[in-house]
Amino acid sequence: MRVSALFCLILACASADVVAASTTSDLLAQARELLGESPHDALKIIKDLETQKSLDSAAQLEADLIRCGYYVDNDDSKEALQIVAKWTPHKLQSLGKAEALELQLCQASAEEKLGKANIAEQSYLDVLSMARSSKLKAVEAEALLNLGQLRGFQGDYSEALVFLENAQTLFYEVEMPHKIRITLNSIAILYGRMGEDKKAIEYFTEVLEKNRAAGKKRNVAVVLYNLGRRYESLKDFTKAESSYEESLKIHTELGNEASIALVHRALGSVYNETKRPKVALASLDKALKILEAKNRLKSQAGVHLEKAISYRLLGMNDQALEELDHAELLSEKSSSPTNERDILEQRSLVYAQMREWQKAYTQSQKFKSVSDQILNNQKDNQLARVQLRFETSKKEQANQLLRKELETASRIQVLQMAVISLLALLFSVGGFFAIRQVRLARQMKSLALTDELTQIPNRRHILAYGEEALRTCKEQDKPFSVLIFDIDHFKRVNDSFGHAVGDQVIQRIAAVSKSFLRQADRVGRIGGEEFLVILPFTPPEAAKEVAERIRDRVARTDMTDLELSLNVTVSVGVCGCTNQKPPLDHMMNLADEALYQVKQNGRNGVRLRDSA
Ligand code: GH3
Ligand code: MG
Ligand code: MG
Repeated sequence: MRVSALFCLILACASADVVAASTTSDLLAQARELLGESPHDALKIIKDLETQKSLDSAAQLEADLIRCGYYVDNDDSKEALQIVAKWTPHKLQSLGKAEALELQLCQASAEEKLGKANIAEQSYLDVLSMARSSKLKAVEAEALLNLGQLRGFQGDYSEALVFLENAQTLFYEVEMPHKIRITLNSIAILYGRMGEDKKAIEYFTEVLEKNRAAGKKRNVAVVLYNLGRRYESLKDFTKAESSYEESLKIHTELGNEASIALVHRALGSVYNETKRPKVALASLDKALKILEAKNRLKSQAGVHLEKAISYRLLGMNDQALEELDHAELLSEKSSSPTNERDILEQRSLVYAQMREWQKAYTQSQKFKSVSDQILNNQKDNQLARVQLRFETSKKEQANQLLRKELETASRIQVLQMAVISLLALLFSVGGFFAIRQVRLARQMKSLALTDELTQIPNRRHILAYGEEALRTCKEQDKPFSVLIFDIDHFKRVNDSFGHAVGDQVIQRIAAVSKSFLRQADRVGRIGGEEFLVILPFTPPEAAKEVAERIRDRVARTDMTDLELSLNVTVSVGVCGCTNQKPPLDHMMNLADEALYQVKQNGRNGVRLRDSA
């Protein structure tokens, strides 16, 4: 890789000699790598290749795989399906199993894009199990990635995350850096959708660095835009602005018109938020010019809406209303309820500014009813999906808790809405919806995956991760270990210094143990002061070393800032297996027994129990 990059530099990368000298398989590999970054170039390589020479059937299949991926990514899934259809089972017979499965994955992605999520899901699961039994890790990872993204779209965040984390682990195993970037990016997007902006920023920043290091300019620009959106959502407008500006610079350099328009629009919104409506108008007009040329109606509507905000801030009410009429006209053509809601809100605010109270009131009433509709739809969908998951996994207790939370949330909403419909005439209520939505998403999410106190995976999530990782290791005949650790004499901590200090100790220990685990390892809180660590691809002896490291780090962690005489240690029980793989709960029982023995022997120690 490094050598060819060097050559590339010397020959300025465009030299015809390089192309002519490359073999078919090199070019196909190059096209595949380019698919995510500059899909048109990938397609061009394939087309050139096909006109230059006739490909054997293995190479033709590879070319068609890339072509299929191209069409799925560029919203022409019908074309993608036609490409897949050329490959009858008969034709595929003599070719590689991995390629056949990849073709099936691409077909499923196309189905998904065409709205047939059920068919796609079944297909992903089929490929997953076949890839596992044939030990095709790269395909397995790809199937997990697709499943994770699908679950994310369905709002099933907990399971989505488990799939994506496992995909990521495998992509590290098979060393596919561009797929690692895609997976990390999907995880970031998922957190963004959950309303977990800080987590999303953490992941986007990691993807950003990786893309920079790999020299993937277009992706750098795209990630910067996404990062900007998260900063904007956190109301960190300074960081949002600088992310957008850098993104704009790169997109301009690369000449990506559609993306340039998108970023100009985003910048316009930041300028409005920071009360610079004139600068905003300049950006928004640039966006509009591009979008009109491309006939993107929905995006145009969004820009007119943002322009209305600028004019309102400038006190130019007539112009603001005009922009809103524009926006409404374009939204009707593209039918978008969120646009409709935002237009009503802005109209009400403009009329209020004009002191046209009756008109403002009418608009705000309409605004309220559309908002309710949108919220209820979201809530219904989310609730229905979450309930289904809970029922199937017989987590009735958690389910009731969730329902109660939601009921409280909607009762509060009724009260708050009554107050707000009166006040809406005078000031903006947009923020309220944003906050409620984030809160709802947070409640769901925290019940679903994260432990409230420590912000590491909760019991359910770490067990799901463990089950999935164990299955992977079993299929691939790789070692697998778990360890359980428990804080020593924790009751004394609580009794001597109080529960609040106890809680902080738990948080510190979670952070310490998380900080040095490898990529695929995960720690979760499974009880009050008990933690489970999942160690995929790790043999028992190595797991024991990890355990020793955790014990040592905790013992050496200075907590005297919490309480002067505080000295915290943990005891660790380890269970690992290389060949036979017992079920996860069995391994946990054995680790627990080992832990009990450490406690018996005086604590602050480690003990390994072999699973055999
Ligand atoms: P051992 O060394 O045998 O583990 O002794 P221990 O005192 O730590 O005993 P054990 O593990 O059975 O005690 C757990 C205690 O942790 C009991 C409970 O009061 C406390 N605890 C459980 N959850 C929390 C929590 O979330 N916060 C705080 N502050 N304390 C907790
Ligand atoms: Mg304890
Ligand atoms: Mg305990």
